[in-house]
Amino acid sequence: MYILLIGAPGAGKGTQAKKLSQLLALRHIASGDLFHTAFEEQTELGLKAQRYVDLGELVPDEITIPMVMRHIEEPENIQGVILDGFPRTFEQSQALDAELSRIKRQVDLAIHLKVSREELLARLAGRIFCQANQHVYHIKFRPPKVADRCDLDGSKLYQRPDDAGEAMRRRLVIYFNQTVQLLDYYRQQHKLREVDGNSSIDQVQAILLSVINDSTGRVAKV
Ligand code: ADP
Ligand code: ADP
Repeated sequence: MYILLIGAPGAGKGTQAKKLSQLLALRHIASGDLFHTAFEEQTELGLKAQRYVDLGELVPDEITIPMVMRHIEEPENIQGVILDGFPRTFEQSQALDAELSRIKRQVDLAIHLKVSREELLARLAGRIFCQANQHVYHIKFRPPKVADRCDLDGSKLYQRPDDAGEAMRRRLVIYFNQTVQLLDYYRQQHKLREVDGNSSIDQVQAILLSVINDSTGRVAKV
């Protein structure tokens, strides 16, 4: 089972994909996290990608596509894969289809998590990550128990520089420009489901679970 989560920066993709991957035994692949890890490890790929990430631009396809494809195979003992933040361009969707067809798989479901611009701005403005493991919090909507400290590993929390200012605005513009074609592509194949992502984390999770269950017949192990 291959599920795509498509949504603007701050829509809640990472938050939801993490929960769904636990509930449904899916591998969670987030392109943004792969770039972050590559940068932390100071790999050549990480260093090349970083200047685009800092500016709020998409990392070029010739770097992004091979990086994600290395992780795409569905491991045994897992129910499937949830892709968060990839594909973001039409070219990426084509590369994904080609790779999945090579391993005799396909995209089963593309979920568009729709959130109003006002809500996106509020989510990005308050988003904080922990330094050790990138666990995600929000100063108002999902505050840590102790200010500035991760509940799970105690590391310090920080704001991503590209969640503010010009980089943040550029990310939103690029997202809205690139996504129309991507959504059309999955709509034409009857694989697209639109989900209202404006409500609380738990409410959105419940809607996503029911959409996935309806579309694939999978039932959460709760
Ligand atoms: P968000 O949480 O805003 O959706 P991500 O953590 O997914 O952001 O991505 C952070 C940055 O990594 C993006 O602004 C972009 O520079 C780069 N990136 C992530 N995914 C892709 C992709 N599929 N194609 C190109 N660049 C990407
Ligand atoms: P994305 O991966 O799409 O960029 P995140 O999952 O990182 O988005 O969520 C963006 C911010 O909004 C985070 O600080 C997160 O805690 C918060 N958040 C996520 N979903 C919701 C929600 N349904 N209601 C309120 N805040 C949310």
